[in-house]
Amino acid sequence: MTDAPLLIPVLGDQLTPDIAALRASDRKDAVVLMMEVADETTYVKHHKAKIAFILSAMRHHARRLRDLGWYVDYVRLDDPGNSGSLTGEVARAVDRHRPRAIHVTEAGEWRVQAMLDGWSDRFAIPVTIHQDDRFLCSHAEFDAWAAARRQLRMEYFYRDMRRKTGLLLNADGGPEGGQWNYDADNRKPAPARDLLMPQPVRFRPDATTQEVLEMVAERFADHIGGLGHFHFAVTHEEAMRQQRRFLDEALPRFGDYQDAMMTGEPFLWHSVLSPYINAGLLDPLALCEEVERRYRAGKAPLNCAEGFIRQIIGWREYVRGIYWHEGPDYARRNALNATRDLPGFYWTGDTDMHCLRQAIGQTIDHAYAHHIQRLMITGNFALLAGIDPHQVHVWYLEVYADAYEWVELPNTLGMSQFADGGLLGSKPYASGGAYINRMSDYCGTCRYDVKQRTGDDACPFNSLYWDFLARNEKKLARNPRLAMPYRNWAGMAEKDRAAIREQAARVLDALT
Ligand SMILES: Cc1cc2nc3c(=O)[nH]c(=O)nc-3n(C[C@H](O)[C@H](O)[C@H](O)COP(=O)(O)OP(=O)(O)OC[C@H]3O[C@@H](n4cnc5c(N)ncnc54)[C@H](O)[C@@H]3O)c2cc1C
Ligand code: SF4
Repeated sequence: MTDAPLLIPVLGDQLTPDIAALRASDRKDAVVLMMEVADETTYVKHHKAKIAFILSAMRHHARRLRDLGWYVDYVRLDDPGNSGSLTGEVARAVDRHRPRAIHVTEAGEWRVQAMLDGWSDRFAIPVTIHQDDRFLCSHAEFDAWAAARRQLRMEYFYRDMRRKTGLLLNADGGPEGGQWNYDADNRKPAPARDLLMPQPVRFRPDATTQEVLEMVAERFADHIGGLGHFHFAVTHEEAMRQQRRFLDEALPRFGDYQDAMMTGEPFLWHSVLSPYINAGLLDPLALCEEVERRYRAGKAPLNCAEGFIRQIIGWREYVRGIYWHEGPDYARRNALNATRDLPGFYWTGDTDMHCLRQAIGQTIDHAYAHHIQRLMITGNFALLAGIDPHQVHVWYLEVYADAYEWVELPNTLGMSQFADGGLLGSKPYASGGAYINRMSDYCGTCRYDVKQRTGDDACPFNSLYWDFLARNEKKLARNPRLAMPYRNWAGMAEKDRAAIREQAARVLDALT
């Protein structure tokens, strides 16, 4: 190593051996700096399993980089002298190694990027920030795409990403099968219980993970969640095993049951890969290419392959684009002026509403819920009840193992809470109990009656749904996608409308 090496900080969601800053550097001439810092574990109170997953994956990644010939300077959370912040640890590493320059890959979120942007002045050495090319669409590309449009919609962005990657295109460059999107085929309700339902691989913690689990249990005892169900992959090889399990066993039915929900079955035919993709253990494009190969080999139907690929090169890239395009103030938007506090049962699952008990309970156990549970159970309830969207955002950021602000915030604040006024989604994802009853088996064993709107046994989602529409009539009534529900509301007898609103007021009062 030279006297004044390059210093390459690698962040906790940059666990990719050929990430841009490393790819651009010579391993004989560089110190890789990996830092476990208190600020990142507590700026919101992350789920214990999320902290354990990231710290263990970081420790395993450091080993992988050393095996590849990198010199890694690794700072552990409990190292004496740990300053507790990323900038503080870079400062200490600058003192230790006297680097001639810093190379780093751009951060995932505004908060951390602001730190990186300050390093050059602070340390008076050149800092090169490399674009994170694990994503298909750069910030500049997304901004140019958005600038050319009056209205932003994921579907058109997604088609461009299909063209860019060549995924699922036919010989003429059109969409495979003649349609870009097979979402209409992907709305089957919960099936009868299937004893052969695929389950994610459960990885037994090795000594490194065990050590992390013990530290997390002690140090973050007051954070949500348990560690008893800790099953995460913590290395690239393990994450690849889960990827293969998904492709072999779940992908062929992924699309069909993408929106279904079942009591006691947190994972269904979902991939459970988001923590690994987001941390850098898996390559999203390679995964999509493998999904296409499975389709072309006749091992997965088109609606499943297309549906899966759309989530990754469509939604995942799109929400990141929106996050960076809109800027840091996006987190404070509140288009519906919702101000109620998040009910306490979001941290305990202690509610009689069976759907919420299921979705929150498994979140506490596994730091996981699938998309429709996040959108149509916990998200829907918060939207209907008029919960402050910033509190809802912080909750989602805390509780899911895959939650980083760039992906969580647009999904929560935009898609789920409509707090951006319709920038991300064309209508609020609001529903009464009928939707939940259609897509799940939850209502059959609930204390409430999904068919009733008023009375002690009425499903709370029903009165809250109509109350939400009535409360927000000025802001939402002109939305063409809500024309039908507003017509239905207007068509109800005045006394029925009053009874529903009184019922909703009682439900809301009981929340506080
Ligand atoms: C309110 C709310 C909050 C969310 N917060 C997060 C979050 O913090 N982190 C996160 O990764 N996803 C988030 N999502 C999106 C989605 O719910 C998760 O990606 C998905 O549930 C992860 O489980 P899975 O890997 O089994 O996904 P699958 O259903 O198997 O989907 C495959 C992959 O597609 C990607 N994907 C699917 N939907 C989305 C989406 N809407 N946005 C971005 N990527 C998507 C993920 O990488 C996922 O692994 C959120 C959705 C909602 C409604
Ligand atoms: S009846 Fe209502 S509260 Fe109960 S599970 Fe169904 S939707 Fe949820």
